[in-house]
Order: sequence, then C-alpha cells, then structure tokens
Amino acid sequence: MKADLIVIALGGNMILQRGQKGTFEEQMENTQKASVVIADLVEQGYKLVLTSGNGPQVGNILAQQNYEDAPSMPLYVCGAMSQGQIGYMISMTLQNEFKKRNKEVDVITLSTRVIVDKNDPGFSNPTKPIGRFYTKDQADKFNEEGKGPYMDDAGRGYRLFVASPQPLEIVEKKAIQTLADSGMLVYCVGGGGIPVVKNDDGTLEGAMAVIDKDRASAVLAEQIDAGILMILTDVPHACLNYKKEDEKPLGEISLALAMQYYDEGHFIKGSMGPKIEAAIRFVKKTQGKAIITNPENAIKAIKGEAGTIVVP
Ligand code: ADP
Ligand code: MG
Repeated sequence: MKADLIVIALGGNMILQRGQKGTFEEQMENTQKASVVIADLVEQGYKLVLTSGNGPQVGNILAQQNYEDAPSMPLYVCGAMSQGQIGYMISMTLQNEFKKRNKEVDVITLSTRVIVDKNDPGFSNPTKPIGRFYTKDQADKFNEEGKGPYMDDAGRGYRLFVASPQPLEIVEKKAIQTLADSGMLVYCVGGGGIPVVKNDDGTLEGAMAVIDKDRASAVLAEQIDAGILMILTDVPHACLNYKKEDEKPLGEISLALAMQYYDEGHFIKGSMGPKIEAAIRFVKKTQGKAIITNPENAIKAIKGEAGTIVVP
C-alpha cells in the first residue's frame, strides 16, 4: 500500500451546486474553488488521483442528443463526453492554481472504462432515472427507436431508466497507477466510469448503466494500491440519527462499527449510504483508511483532526 497516495472523490456540488443552472461559468467557478483545496493537499506532499460525480453534466449532454440531423450518441458515450468536460475544467483551473503557486504539476484527464457484470441484477430491472423529463409520446418514440427504456418517474414525467451495477474492475488502472507514481495528477473514473461489459470472447462493450461514483472510487483506490480513500461532499461528517434531535457526528470509527451503523440504517441510500459502503469496502480490502468530509476540513481530516474516518 502507498501511504502517500490518495484517491479523492469530488462530490457533485463541488462542480455544480444545487439550484444552479449549470452554465459553463458557474461550473468553472466551482471547479476553481475545488482546485484550491486540491492544490493545498498536493502542497502537503501527497500524490492524488481525482474522481468525481457527473450527474448534472451527463444529464445535460443526454438532453442535447435528441436533434434530428445530428445522430444521438448512446448514454455511455455521453458519459465519456462528461469525463472530457469535467477533466477539461479541472485541468484548466488546477494547472492555473499551481501556476499562481509557482509549482509545476502535470494534470492529466483520462477517459476511463469500468467493467461491470453483464449478469448484474440491475440490468434486468433498471431503477435509476436520469436526465430530463419527456412526455409519454416522446417516451414511446424513444422506446420504439430502441433508445429506452423511458418510463414514468413517480408521475412526474417520463425519463430514461438505467441500471446501476457494481463496479468490478477499472480498465485503465495500470495507466492511472503509472501516471500517479510519476508525480502526475490524474482525473479519472469521472461519473463512476464508463460502464462496459465483457463478452464471452473477452472483448468489451459499452453498457446502458450509471455506476455509483463512490463505489467506483473505492474500487479504483483498491486497484491502484492507494493508502487513503477520501470522499469530499457537502457535510463535514457522516452522522448517526441524521437530522434527528439526537444527531451525532462520527469522528474516527473502526471498520466493525461502520458496518454496524450501516446495517442499522443510519445512512440514506442514495447519498451517504454509498459513501459508507465505499469506505467499508476499501478499508476491509486494503487495511487503508477512508475519510468522509467536506473540502473545508480536508487538510485537517488527513491529519486525523476532522471528518469521519474509517480505520481497520
Ligand atoms: P455527493 O454529490 O457528494 O455524492 P450526496 O448528496 O450524494 O452528495 O451525499 C451527501 C448528502 O448525504 C449530505 O448532503 C446529506 O444530506 C446526506 N446524508 C444522508 N445521510 C446522512 C448521514 N447519516 N450523515 C450525514 N449526511 C447524510
Ligand atoms: Mg452522491
């Protein structure tokens, strides 16, 4: 294990905040703020590999697809486009931040594929609605064209439903490891990675799915031998009894305790749940440590003075 190698998963709101429209300027401004924190961590002497969510970005790219004369790209290619977009924003803001600090660091964006099991139960029952809403007529048309399944989302309109299978393997892991070892800062596994399945003859094929970015980041950290998985989000800690009167922020906790609290249902499924799941998986497999906190507390958390830290 490489104690000085950290995989940092950036939360969606570090690139686009809730309630913002999603203009390029807004996204660059947020990414600029994230870059300051990332540069601070590099100055502490750590080697970093960055990942991020891509929900709003891929949703918008998907919505931009349905124009008659310009052939639509499949969801997984939209995912690849979003990786390029976010990677561009991170490279620009981060490299400029380093320039201000008179530091030379190469920032590399890597389009990344992640292998999932073609028999993952999610594929026969897609449950994750993504992108924008359409009318029933539009949905029927997309379904006829084989672009679906577009289905009713809780009476709010029709959306594309996709599977969210478990990530198994990062295809580009050797390249990521080599780049990180040589001191370059890599942005990869954007949006949980581009989901691909392995055919019987060993070839790969894009899959209609969205992989959870926290889970994929845990697999990445494990497969490149990182010592720390750090998940940056918009809360300083994971809490017990979240939003209740007896809410209790968690500091350093053992793997066993994290598993117990997870089983007791303290962490909401679509948000904190996958982060604790990722932390548990990483610590269990590697004996490294996993940190969940917000950008403001990132440096302190590395020193063990803030955030929720899961240790073996
Ligand atoms: P990200 O974009 O970083 O993945 P999410 O919204 O998916 O952000 O997850 C972070 C959110 O998890 C917090 O804003 C908080 O509302 C929610 N959350 C759910 N359960 C908990 C908990 N037990 N402790 C702290 N936050 C929680
Ligand atoms: Mg999330």
